[in-house]
Amino acid sequence: MRKDFQCILAVCTSTLFAAPAFAQQDFSKVEIQTDKLSDTVYMMTGSGGNLGVSAGDDGVFVIDSQFAALTPKIQAAIAKVSAKPVRFLLNTHWHFDHTGGNENLGNAGAIIVAQENVRKRLSSEGFIAFFGMKTKPEPAIALPIVTFTRDVKLQLNGEEIRAFYAPNAHTDGDSIVHFPKSDVIHMGDTFFNKMYPFIDTSSGGSVAGVLAAADRVLKTAGDKTKIIPGHGPLGTKADLKAYRDMLAAVSAGVASQIKQGKKLEEVVASKPTAQLDAAWGKGFLTPDKFVEMLYGNLKK
Ligand SMILES: [Zn+2]
Repeated sequence: MRKDFQCILAVCTSTLFAAPAFAQQDFSKVEIQTDKLSDTVYMMTGSGGNLGVSAGDDGVFVIDSQFAALTPKIQAAIAKVSAKPVRFLLNTHWHFDHTGGNENLGNAGAIIVAQENVRKRLSSEGFIAFFGMKTKPEPAIALPIVTFTRDVKLQLNGEEIRAFYAPNAHTDGDSIVHFPKSDVIHMGDTFFNKMYPFIDTSSGGSVAGVLAAADRVLKTAGDKTKIIPGHGPLGTKADLKAYRDMLAAVSAGVASQIKQGKKLEEVVASKPTAQLDAAWGKGFLTPDKFVEMLYGNLKK
């Protein structure tokens, strides 16, 4: 994941960037790593958003699809834990590093499920303003055909899998998926573990929404709950709490400087994250980019 986003930052901040260029990115060295989290639930990592997989008697349910070029590797990793095909694919949100394999998995027969704003954004031209990145409308087979507004439940593989909407969090279409019996929660990009997060203001994301999503999961999770972040390693409730507190502290500091009328350059120059950079600043967003992102979001 780190590499993809460095690519985004390096290539895209100053130029318009079309998603198809990502199709030419070299995924040949990417390997899909599988971690078994319960009898039926797995976390899989490759490049792009972390995958969640439920595999059992009823078939395979997958959360997110990374990049199109990785579909054969993802299918091979899934085949190692189940002989059954992917029956359902749920997208945590519309971003291309979580939905790039939709077309392939749709063609292979998966029913795609997502919050209704994911379908809206995938079916029209997209724009991620912070990266100056344009995306093309997806073909019909890549779109969610089951959409919901607030939440949806799937009775699968011996448990009631619950997906619920986190309004205006990382985007305006985020879902968080809870596997109660397995004691696993997949938070999509409402949680970046051990790194500064990106919040997509131009897709309706907000700091307040991410904090609300984290608070909701903190209420649900126990000390042993395994929390899959959109990016970063598997997390715990303590990791999520640390993330929530970091985001709340830095955004409060940036908001108060905005209130004082400080310009973006002044806020960045004040290095409001200096004490935190050793722990959080080596991931997808550099400290300065993180502050810039927060400033743009909180100024709105
Ligand atoms: Zn995202």
